[in-house]
Amino acid sequence: MHELGIANSILEAVRTEVARVPGRYATKVSLRIGEMTAVDPEALRFSFEILSQDTDLAGLQLEIEICPRRNRCEECGQEFTVRDYDIQCPQCGSLRTQFLSGDEFAFGYLEVEEYGTSSVGAQSTE
Ligand SMILES: [Zn+2]
Repeated sequence: MHELGIANSILEAVRTEVARVPGRYATKVSLRIGEMTAVDPEALRFSFEILSQDTDLAGLQLEIEICPRRNRCEECGQEFTVRDYDIQCPQCGSLRTQFLSGDEFAFGYLEVEEYGTSSVGAQSTE
């Protein structure tokens, strides 16, 4: 299962990041996945949960942002979202359009929290 390996790399990357900020733990990680990648978000989410449960990263939330495929028209320069594999420019009708994005696989952000700051209003202002 392809997604299992990906989920494992994500968790490894999160561990590396968290190790750089002592006293903090990760609460949420976000990913940007282009719709052209062959990654199944639900399978990835499932693998992520399986691999993170009962570890130091248990409870870590995974947020997945799907990035649509976008093309740019060579005739008029219009950039547009490709739907149903229709690569025709919506502005001028040209079929001469180029692939722009939609195959990315990247980290969005990682949310971390400090240990022991969960009590409300515990901020000291001495
Ligand atoms: Zn055009």
